[in-house]
Amino acid sequence: MKNRIKVKKIDDCIWLMDDNGEATGYLVCGKKKAVVIDTMNGIANVHSVVREITDLPLIVVNTHGHCDHIFGNLYFDCDCFLHPDDAKIAAKHMRFPVFVRLCKEKKIEMPPFKTIKDGDEIDLGGLTLEVISLPGHTPGGICLLLKEKRVLFTGDSINHHLWMQLEESLPLKTFFENLNKISWVTEKADRILHGHAQDFDDISLFNELRSGLEELIATRGKGDTRYSTDYKWFGGIAKQYPFSNDGSVICYSDEKLDCHPC
Ligand SMILES: [Zn+2]
Ligand SMILES: [Zn+2]
Repeated sequence: MKNRIKVKKIDDCIWLMDDNGEATGYLVCGKKKAVVIDTMNGIANVHSVVREITDLPLIVVNTHGHCDHIFGNLYFDCDCFLHPDDAKIAAKHMRFPVFVRLCKEKKIEMPPFKTIKDGDEIDLGGLTLEVISLPGHTPGGICLLLKEKRVLFTGDSINHHLWMQLEESLPLKTFFENLNKISWVTEKADRILHGHAQDFDDISLFNELRSGLEELIATRGKGDTRYSTDYKWFGGIAKQYPFSNDGSVICYSDEKLDCHPC
């Protein structure tokens, strides 16, 4: 089962872990500590994958509370951090029958989450991760800035196929404002690693997404050159708005477009 997770070293201190093309986690090794950023689907033992790479003391940081980012926490007995605003959604996903069954089968329990918040810094020894809150895709979504390497881990908050149609996603206007609040990060990072990536993205993705969102809000997805189309997903039919020429889209529902920031 272990080879479900494919590992690729993408920098001298960063490993990308691809869980069957369904989710991506990362291992970042400093001089005294290593961090696992998102633990993916929990089907394969991600802890033993990590232990083949490093013997360093570990911590886990989850970028948000969705199942494809937290279920692998199951295999870790170290501290696992999640923003408290995603505790509810994580608890909901942990009640999914498939996960309850998995825990029973393996006779292991999910470790409790510890709280992480905006501005927290994690010292890995020669490498520092800064926590940057970015509520949008979920209320407790965070980005992690690996300062010395100028790399921004964004989870599902900034990517090429952004899901904002979920019940727990924030109104588009609120997310746009939240992106503006942290736009300083484009001066501090050159590259992005998101939660479903196969390699680095350029930091320019941040501003492409931000402009696309602004355009979508202004035109209500009915621009002359760019406009929204239907997007079928397992929850029904939502909408998708293209924000670049390479097929990147923002998925949303009318409710998220009409909703005013509270
Ligand atoms: Zn995801
Ligand atoms: Zn997600």
